[in-house]
Amino acid sequence: MSQYDFDLFVIGAGSGGVRAARIAAGHGARVGICEESRVGGTCVIRGCVPKKLLVYASHFAEDFEDARGFGWETEPARFSWPDLIRAKDREIDRLNGVYLGLLANSGVELINGRGSFIDPHTVQAGDRTVTAEHVLIATGGTPWAPDIPGIEHAITSNEAFDLEQLPARVAVVGGGFIACEFAGIFNGLGADVTQIYRGDAVLRGFDQDVRRVVTEELVKKGIDLKLESDIASIEKTASGLVLSLRNGDSLDVDQVMYATGRVPLVRDLGLREIGVEVRADGRIVVDEYSRTNIEHIYAVGDVTSRVNLTPVALYEGHSFADTVFGDKNRPVNHQFVPSAVFSQPPVGTVGYSEEDALHHIGPIDVYLSEFRPMKHTLSGRDEKTMMKLIVERESQKVVGIHIVGLDAPEIVQGFAVAVKSGLTKDRFDCTIGIHPTAAEELVTMRSPARSHG
Ligand code: NDP
Repeated sequence: MSQYDFDLFVIGAGSGGVRAARIAAGHGARVGICEESRVGGTCVIRGCVPKKLLVYASHFAEDFEDARGFGWETEPARFSWPDLIRAKDREIDRLNGVYLGLLANSGVELINGRGSFIDPHTVQAGDRTVTAEHVLIATGGTPWAPDIPGIEHAITSNEAFDLEQLPARVAVVGGGFIACEFAGIFNGLGADVTQIYRGDAVLRGFDQDVRRVVTEELVKKGIDLKLESDIASIEKTASGLVLSLRNGDSLDVDQVMYATGRVPLVRDLGLREIGVEVRADGRIVVDEYSRTNIEHIYAVGDVTSRVNLTPVALYEGHSFADTVFGDKNRPVNHQFVPSAVFSQPPVGTVGYSEEDALHHIGPIDVYLSEFRPMKHTLSGRDEKTMMKLIVERESQKVVGIHIVGLDAPEIVQGFAVAVKSGLTKDRFDCTIGIHPTAAEELVTMRSPARSHG
């Protein structure tokens, strides 16, 4: 019998922690997990899931308009934010219940409360002290905002999901995933939206054509996109908030939401005291098995220095549990992780951007297509779709696919299998398209738009 209370104790019951706990328990381990908030973590409670529900909700505004081009007469539609939030909360409660059920059914013991290390094998979990042979840190991340005067009047995505009313005038700060997604949500639902971003095109780090097209489309949707702009201070007044911009302008809004990045939740975990190596930004350093510098302590998900996406955390948690408790060798490989931005229109992407491919690979051919999607030939909407393939010249492997447009995330999820499998351009060329779809474009692009090297 082990000298410890548990074979595995997990700190944090989000996507990565719950997956690891369940799989380890399935391999026969005695597993405990603690959670200070609600089981499900950022993705389920205040991230991907409620965000996508809000994206669906906001898109109806355009759907009603577009329907007219197809012969529909629609009543002026009315929208209720409180009804939407109540419906969203019901779904989140349901999913929270599903997660609780998954843990209970797999025999994992749940302790409500914050976890922190007392020593390398002992964790204070709420009001209990537990010992474990292995410990997994899966505490995730939390929004970060710069410390400017009046920042206490700003909200983050955490609060945006539970606002009592839809703000009539809202500023969204940032040009990343969350800022682009929420600017689209608030805009679609009828708010006056200003997006304030310090760079010259949104979505830094994405392919240049993705950045260009999303930037253009956000503006076409009616978002007042202020580029190369930043807020110096926020002042609360009787009628709302006054944002003073660094260029001297000011802006009156009802709400300002910061989406300026996320930081790992490592505060008070006791990592430094027990000697777990963390980077200057707080992220835990791990190897390809998610192992920290301490042999029996592991970390997965947003608290680590890898790709911060839910499916990645699931994969890391699953691989960890299979390796440590399932007698399998499952290192994690983060090459060609597909991702999406649920902006409007959305982005789907996998593999190298044109710039990164040039930098890391060498000679490449770039196939590019921009067109009006078929739906908008009748709706009349001025929205375009952009599709792009990056092909390594020498091997002819498709090393990047980037799409902005309707259904982009769904399309890229399928094509990501081809990129992950190292398929060559001629495999794309010999695949018959499905007509009429937008995705057929990916198998019918014959001439490079440009070649480098
Ligand atoms: P991102 O890192 O995507 O974007 C942060 C934005 O804030 C950038 O535009 C950045 O500008 C800007 N910024 C940073 N610091 C400052 C500052 N001091 N003043 C002004 N602007 C600043 O972070 P998000 O918060 O949007 O999302 C966090 C992570 O969560 C993502 O990276 C992603 O991993 C994950 N996520 C994934 C989603 C999905 O899969 N659909 C959805 C939401 C989140 P600059 O570019 O110039 O640095």
